[in-house]
Amino acid sequence: MLTHLRMPIVAVICPLLWAVTSLAFVSKPPSRMATANVVGRCGESKFALTATKDANMSEEEREVAMEKALKAMTAFSNKYIENTGTYYCSDKSIPAVVIKGLAEHKVTLGTPLCPCRFYENKEKEAQDGYWNCPCVPMRERHECHCMLFLTEDNDFSGDEKNISFEEVKKLSGGIL
Ligand code: SF4
Repeated sequence: MLTHLRMPIVAVICPLLWAVTSLAFVSKPPSRMATANVVGRCGESKFALTATKDANMSEEEREVAMEKALKAMTAFSNKYIENTGTYYCSDKSIPAVVIKGLAEHKVTLGTPLCPCRFYENKEKEAQDGYWNCPCVPMRERHECHCMLFLTEDNDFSGDEKNISFEEVKKLSGGIL
């Protein structure tokens, strides 16, 4: 393991992940307006506006949904890491932040879209499925650019194949 490289990569990746995942909220309709599934016609061209899944949720409901999604994505990650023979990063704040990003997308989009990428249209990407976790590069080649699932030969992989819900909550800054 390259212990001396851990701090720099954490210092770079954590702010990056937070910046990308926070775009989920920036791109929401103002006040999460309930513009649910507005479909219509403008001249000959069909248009569709799809609200985020949490558009009509109160803060309390959103917190409950996030907790449920965070637990589900933590369980998924632990199971998938076991099935693929991969490992978590030696600094568990990396998987914690990625799992939270996945949970946020599960709540807002209905699917765990990869939180480490920028999308012009998140709803379209979520429907397309290529970047829904586990994404195609991970399924086909064990490539996880989020560093959630690391192969044994990765310089940053640790020995851990398990992360608890409490660890995810604490290391990612809480449920919301
Ligand atoms: Fe993102 Fe793919 Fe890694 Fe999941 S497996 S966190 S979708 S890069």
